[in-house]
Amino acid sequence: MKKLDVLVIGSGGREHAIVKAVKKSPLCGRLVCTPANGGIELDCETAAIKADDISGIVEFARGGKFDLVICGPEIPLSMGLADALRAEGISVYGPNKDGATLEASKAFSKNFLKKYSIPTAAGENFTDFKSAKKFIEEAPFDVVIKASGLAAGKGVVIPSTKEEAVEAAREMLEGGVFGESGREIVVEEKMEGEEASIMLMVCGTNYIMLPPSQDHKRVGEGDTGLNTGGMGAYAPAAVATEEVLEKVRKDIVSPTLEGLKKEGIDYRGTLYVGIMITAQGPKVVEFNVRFGDPECQVLLPLLKTDALELMNNIANGSLDSSKVEIKDEFAVVVVVCAKGYPDSYKKGDVISLPKTETEGAYVIHSGTKRGSDGEILTNGGRVLGMTATGKTLREALDKAYKLCGETSFDGAFYRRDIAHRQLKRDLQ
Ligand code: AMP
Repeated sequence: MKKLDVLVIGSGGREHAIVKAVKKSPLCGRLVCTPANGGIELDCETAAIKADDISGIVEFARGGKFDLVICGPEIPLSMGLADALRAEGISVYGPNKDGATLEASKAFSKNFLKKYSIPTAAGENFTDFKSAKKFIEEAPFDVVIKASGLAAGKGVVIPSTKEEAVEAAREMLEGGVFGESGREIVVEEKMEGEEASIMLMVCGTNYIMLPPSQDHKRVGEGDTGLNTGGMGAYAPAAVATEEVLEKVRKDIVSPTLEGLKKEGIDYRGTLYVGIMITAQGPKVVEFNVRFGDPECQVLLPLLKTDALELMNNIANGSLDSSKVEIKDEFAVVVVVCAKGYPDSYKKGDVISLPKTETEGAYVIHSGTKRGSDGEILTNGGRVLGMTATGKTLREALDKAYKLCGETSFDGAFYRRDIAHRQLKRDLQ
């Protein structure tokens, strides 16, 4: 088979994980990532076009005659990057703008879930504060307030009282705290249960389900402190039992993909379904239209099937899900952060990287850049992801934490309890 020239869009840990998976493939020809980071630069060619420069990316992809573009983040997808590339005849792993609306508008996604009777929290969309206030005050349940638009994971408020809920709605609708993204809000029932991430690789109504994973949003051990982009993840997460997954397939995934088809959306790319495992069964918390970061770092290494071949087949509308194989292993990632994260943090510190990386335990770069002498410097809040696989969860964790111990930069910190829920369950 002809080798494929591949362009990866993005600059985080997710994109480094994608680059590593694609690079391993015997099908991989030229591999370029833009705008990349300090670690991606060590693995492939890079360019300096920003991820939201849609016309710049299209021009570059056309000029470089790339066979496949893989888009990591949601913003370019919601801006229509995939549509623009497809219009040029370039294959893309990632949905068009219409599909990306599932993430870009929580109000759209709420309506979609209702229309297709997919289990989710009861709720309504509002653009007018007075009506939102009335709904919150009269709701027979505790509520969660969500800015409808993209808000980098910060647009959800979980209030402790109805007064706090009304205040959050006021701040979004009248105070403009999330700007345009909060001009419309979703007010929904607060669900109780444990969360899990279900990542699907979708080609129309055909799909493969990657192993369920769990990430750790809070900055502190024991799930305390501020919310972050994610401090670590592991897969497979046993909380999503086979029984739960069967319900997810039947009650969530099938109606979602059928619904997208009925809406005229030809979805090709990752669909991330955040679920809450409630007493009534799994319910949708959110949709994302790309891999989670850091979940991507633990899912791609568990694919036995060639990741590039798979993404290319999906991009070209020819996924054969019966041929996809998943390894019988565990994977974990522990994120090493800069002091102060998720509040303000310093950049530009020199990183000392581990010297003992192996096929099954290696460093994924998130917020890093290369200094003028080729040294690797911190360049973000989440700096590195220590990623490892193992026959057991414990083995994978030990390998990842060994790498953490061999890494240093000024103020580096990480959570020492990644996968704690599962470890506790294993002891029971
Ligand atoms: P979202 O961006 O919609 O995923 O929300 C971010 C986080 O807020 C989720 O991962 C949940 O932890 C929490 N959350 C969102 N919606 C609800 C809900 N209806 N009930 C309880 N927690 C929620």
